[in-house]
Amino acid sequence: MKLRQETGLTFDDVLLVPKRSAIRSRSEVDTSTELVRGLRLAVPILSANMDTVTEANMAIVMAQVGGFGIIHRFMTVERQAEEVRKVKRSESYVVENPVVIHPDETIKTAREKMVAENVGGLVVVEDGGRLVGMLTSRDVLLAPEGEASVASVMTDRDHLVVASAEAGIEPARLKLHEHRIEKLPLVDRENRVVGLITASDIVKVQKHPYATKDEKGRLRVGVAVGTRPEDEDRAQACLEQGADVLVIDIAHGHADHAMEMVRRLKMRFPGTPLIAGNVATAPGVRDLAEAGADAVKVGVGAGSICITRIVTGFGIPQLTAIDECVQEARRFGIPVIADGGIRTSGDITKALAVGASTVMLGSLLAGTDESPGVSVIRGGQRIKVVRGMASLSANVDRQRLSQEAELNAEDWEKVVPEGVEAAVPYRGSVVDILYQLVGGLRSGMSYAGARTLPELWENAEFIRITPAGQRESGPHDVSLL
Ligand code: IMP
Repeated sequence: MKLRQETGLTFDDVLLVPKRSAIRSRSEVDTSTELVRGLRLAVPILSANMDTVTEANMAIVMAQVGGFGIIHRFMTVERQAEEVRKVKRSESYVVENPVVIHPDETIKTAREKMVAENVGGLVVVEDGGRLVGMLTSRDVLLAPEGEASVASVMTDRDHLVVASAEAGIEPARLKLHEHRIEKLPLVDRENRVVGLITASDIVKVQKHPYATKDEKGRLRVGVAVGTRPEDEDRAQACLEQGADVLVIDIAHGHADHAMEMVRRLKMRFPGTPLIAGNVATAPGVRDLAEAGADAVKVGVGAGSICITRIVTGFGIPQLTAIDECVQEARRFGIPVIADGGIRTSGDITKALAVGASTVMLGSLLAGTDESPGVSVIRGGQRIKVVRGMASLSANVDRQRLSQEAELNAEDWEKVVPEGVEAAVPYRGSVVDILYQLVGGLRSGMSYAGARTLPELWENAEFIRITPAGQRESGPHDVSLL
């Protein structure tokens, strides 16, 4: 028998040793990090590409607070691209393709368009894209005649304040304020609409100073893809909508077809950062890095909803896996994402202290307003559902999606799940959870005397603990209220 001599360790097996610290306040700590080379995040937390965790709503809030969301792939290509579009349109300095309407359309059509596109105003253009007016929800709100034309209620061009395409954000803000208006169309020399700046977008920019943004001021977002040839088109469709990062998402990332996919995507989209995983060993990291991965996702069998270790017998306790993978990843100069098994801010601090650059969270974020699905009452408690992407129901849904047909009992029986479905307590907005998690991390970094993540890596020292030490670590010998 080939047996490794070391013991595999995970979060509960160790504690971090307190170090001398000159940090007086948690606010002195800088949690910023690298997702992939050149793409920095203020907060080292990613939301998992799971269908009970990350779609557009989650990705928007994750990016607003300085983290990053990865939209799962268990939906049609069109829907996934649409989720990306929602994130990219949710805030930016300039809306590049504002929603437009022709002046001869009816008020009824305009109302429907505002609802469908979730916007408070439409830019009125003639054929050829020339600006003729603006229509806001106030113009149509109480208009009695639904069949009347847009032209009859819009603010026409002569009364519109506009700016040139080159206007920067500060002059635009002043102009919006000076005229007490909410929308500023941008036009070129021929009076063609080339963009729109809105007061609410500028307010959002000011409200989220640490947001993860691209060069156009839009929130950043990643997308997961599989390893089939058609997943290249999935990637293409999402990139066309502005996706910033691709994530090759398979359970056993140290597989020839994963490496092959890394090479294919790198060849087809050379400028796009590519994360690959999941792996748990140094050779896994090496092979993905040599194939061209810009970061690796680490974790096999650690997830809260994962039964891979039970069903297959494979896995490596997560802290040891991160440690081994980080050492190899550093040889290639690429970051490690610690994915799975994180339950507390203490676990986040430990995962980062071992050397990970970011952590990915699944069920910790699944019970929030921003995760897909609704909350329900069960046993007097409000809950939401989280499910492994290899769970029975996720497998069946996936097959249903690909075959566009109902499955029969036999198909159900053929599934060998490696994940479970579970209930998590409903926990309100993810913003509050992230606040607690980042606060805990900042505090943790101050115990290490670390103002930055590289200092945490440098200063971190772990001590192994026994079950008695573990017991001592939680509240004990009191009855909790
Ligand atoms: P959590 O933060 O502990 O809930 O772990 C989330 C991670 O579990 C995800 O990011 C995936 O890497 C992994 N995962 C998701 N679904 C499954 C599954 O069905 N089986 C095994 N692992 C899964």
